Amino acid sequence: MRLLLVEDDAMIGEAIRAGLKRDGFTVDWVRTAAAAAPALATEPYELLLLDLGLPGSDGLSFLKSLRARGTPLPVLIITARDAVADRVAGLDAGADDYLVKPFDLEELAARIRALLRRKAGRPAPHLEHLGLMLDPATHRVTRDGAEVALSPREFALLELLLERPGAILSRAQLEERLYGFGEEIESNAIEVHVHGLRRKLGADYILTVRGVGYRVRPAP
Ligand code: CA
Repeated sequence: MRLLLVEDDAMIGEAIRAGLKRDGFTVDWVRTAAAAAPALATEPYELLLLDLGLPGSDGLSFLKSLRARGTPLPVLIITARDAVADRVAGLDAGADDYLVKPFDLEELAARIRALLRRKAGRPAPHLEHLGLMLDPATHRVTRDGAEVALSPREFALLELLLERPGAILSRAQLEERLYGFGEEIESNAIEVHVHGLRRKLGADYILTVRGVGYRVRPAP
């Protein structure tokens, strides 16, 4: 799951990026609203983490401009502004959640997962399909109850396919959802991860739709 972080504080930004990466998220980090706008226009982010006190256009104005344009992206405000009036203003400007600094990275990750569930219209915290269960919180995958050990990229790819079983994702769509700015992608990276998943889950769990992309096998 690829997220955009807008945060001007170098230490906080690095801590959030590193912490969320350990939790399996791909995080692109920019320092200003001016840098966030073009990134949002071109990359398929699942969620925006937005600081309020930013140089130039402040976070609240940026959020209002996004909502005025009809951007549906879930937005989680992360800020030191802890007054009730600030929280109310943030939520009423279109934020989906609001977390006051300093916060625990575990709580941030859990709130992100909750927002992504809501975005996907999925009430359960686990993803389940044809005997396979994937838990985004613990990064465990089981098949018919037996643990399956996946690499972080394999896990992230499987999570994308399981979010909407039946939907076909192209290689390009998978690449841009799995890899952030500046990350090297081997030209056959997605094929390699799919191959790894087939080896571990069985050859017929992920189907190739020739010339289009990949999907999980539909329920009978
Ligand atoms: Ca700030």
